[in-house]
Amino acid sequence: MSENLEEAPERKKKEKVEKRKKKEKGVFSLYKIENGKVVRLRPTCERCGPGYFMADHGDRYTCGHCGFTRYKLAEK
Ligand SMILES: [Zn+2]
Repeated sequence: MSENLEEAPERKKKEKVEKRKKKEKGVFSLYKIENGKVVRLRPTCERCGPGYFMADHGDRYTCGHCGFTRYKLAEK
């Protein structure tokens, strides 16, 4: 009777392995490689310094770290 119990645990292991690789976004979408150089696609926060990216909100950028907001200027 006790022999049958050993087979069950092994079947359940294989189903859960493949569901782990979905959250690989993030930082990589903020950079772009151009002619061998790294180009930042977003401005960085003036208060927090380089390394803190600001979120694009259409007509303005905001820093999620300190709350700083910078309006886009119509330059050019
Ligand atoms: Zn900031």
